[in-house]
Amino acid sequence: MKPYEVLLNDNKKWAAKKQEEEPDFFEKLLNLQTPEFLWIGCSDSRVPANQITNTQPGEIFVHRNIANMVVHTDTNLLSVLEYAVTHLEVKHIIVCGHYGCGGIKAAMGNKDYNQVLNMWLRNIKDVYRINFTELENIEDEELKLNRLTELNVMEQVSHLAETAIVQRAWKKRQGPDLHGWVYGLKDGLINPVHEIKANSPIDPLYEYHDLE
Ligand SMILES: [Zn+2]
Repeated sequence: MKPYEVLLNDNKKWAAKKQEEEPDFFEKLLNLQTPEFLWIGCSDSRVPANQITNTQPGEIFVHRNIANMVVHTDTNLLSVLEYAVTHLEVKHIIVCGHYGCGGIKAAMGNKDYNQVLNMWLRNIKDVYRINFTELENIEDEELKLNRLTELNVMEQVSHLAETAIVQRAWKKRQGPDLHGWVYGLKDGLINPVHEIKANSPIDPLYEYHDLE
């Protein structure tokens, strides 16, 4: 069997097992999804949102990209955010990074990854620049990488609060709350590093005053 055929085969086994354990499982999800959470995570294959949070299909709306970035010109991310916040009305948005992230490590170096990847990693380099003094004072490379991972998650959570999408929802329905987490590849544990509750004060520069 070819490797991709194994996936199709395992899918059949999974669907049969699910049907047996919970006969109305697929029926229930067929016409409706009401997830409470939007997850913005890293594309890294070792950080699957559902598995590490022990959740089921239907529970988390997921967007993943390299190093879990919230880039204000990324129409893919913004479409997911708009849909999750305005239409699904999720109660929480989680930005989940992970220690040992290849994207963060690449951004800390000076290698040319060609234009598209350079463009993406540039966003992480900006987080480094914003926190330059703190990061330059950490001598150990791994600790520095870990701290940049945490600071990057915090910055991306702030980016969410700086969108009109989130601010409009805060005004209208006092949600969602924003969370920044970092997952540990070594122990499988999530470290919560940041939280912005709905309607918390944000940098006035990014506030919209005339939201409808
Ligand atoms: Zn990663």
